[in-house]
Amino acid sequence: MDFITFCACGKPVDETFIYCPWCGKQNRDHDDKDVLENVFSQLEEKQANDRISRVKKIESKIEALEKELGLLSKLSGK
Ligand SMILES: [Zn+2]
Repeated sequence: MDFITFCACGKPVDETFIYCPWCGKQNRDHDDKDVLENVFSQLEEKQANDRISRVKKIESKIEALEKELGLLSKLSGK
């Protein structure tokens, strides 16, 4: 089975091809690294967004809890 790699132009290219059939760029070394860095930075961005939305959910839960606790302490305080 042949391995597929991705060119810097974003197209899938058979790893045995030295030149990208889509854009004609040489499909080796630093190009691969650039693509990997792109993929990783996109992943990091997605993970950061996921984390932010998770934190926001937790914050709203805490707010709701605080309201409930406030009600409870008011009730028990009297
Ligand atoms: Zn290409």
